[in-house]
Amino acid sequence: MLPKTVMTDDFVTHLPKGGYLVIPSHILDTLSKYRQRNSSQPESGGTFIGCFRQGSDDGPISIEIVSYTEPSKMDSASRYGFVRKSKHHIQKVLNAWKRSGRGLTYLGEWHTHPESKPNPSIVDIANWKKNLKGKTAILMIFGMESDWIAIWDGSEITELPPLIPDQPI
Ligand SMILES: [Zn+2]
Repeated sequence: MLPKTVMTDDFVTHLPKGGYLVIPSHILDTLSKYRQRNSSQPESGGTFIGCFRQGSDDGPISIEIVSYTEPSKMDSASRYGFVRKSKHHIQKVLNAWKRSGRGLTYLGEWHTHPESKPNPSIVDIANWKKNLKGKTAILMIFGMESDWIAIWDGSEITELPPLIPDQPI
């Protein structure tokens, strides 16, 4: 059974092990401009930066996305592929980590797909398994019409409900 989705201004969903995920609407609005709605738009991608929140010592851990990186000209982008090559992605994550006293950290990544209802490719899954071993990450793919979003818990992917802007509460 899928977790219950609450849609207010921000995207909020329950995580499989308890706690919740919040992605503020302004982040989704900004990243939505990279959707590959016309045939000339290449894939785009970047990282998520955020924090873990725990209400009590033994309470569930929630995730709040507070920032992100966007593609730059130094990245490698084509219609069917995006590779983060620019150093600004990792630099922004490190800066946020230092400036926040280690409160903000790398919390996943996003990229686009030229399909209306996106799904991760075999290459995506292989890359995540290789690069995110032991980490917690929010994984998001912006399709032309809808999105795919999941949590990686260090070893496996659990899909979260799709982001549908007019989904009723
Ligand atoms: Zn992909």
